[in-house]
Amino acid sequence: MLKVDETRCVGCGLCVYFCPTDALRAWGVCRITREDCNECLACVDYCPVDALQQAATGQN
Ligand code: SF4
Ligand code: SF4
Repeated sequence: MLKVDETRCVGCGLCVYFCPTDALRAWGVCRITREDCNECLACVDYCPVDALQQAATGQN
């Protein structure tokens, strides 16, 4: 499960641009629609400030 560290996100929108399933929106900080996320992790690679992380299953 993907998580956004809102203290790091600068709202650059790169993750939104590269997400293949349109699961991300950046309004100030990035938001994930988890139902749409297929865990491809492209956004994790592109985020310039490491604000996106994959959390262990079962965590929020
Ligand atoms: S892991 Fe992939 S599908 Fe999920 S939000 Fe990131 S880019 Fe989109
Ligand atoms: S790429 Fe990173 S810093 Fe940019 S909007 Fe997405 S989570 Fe925030």
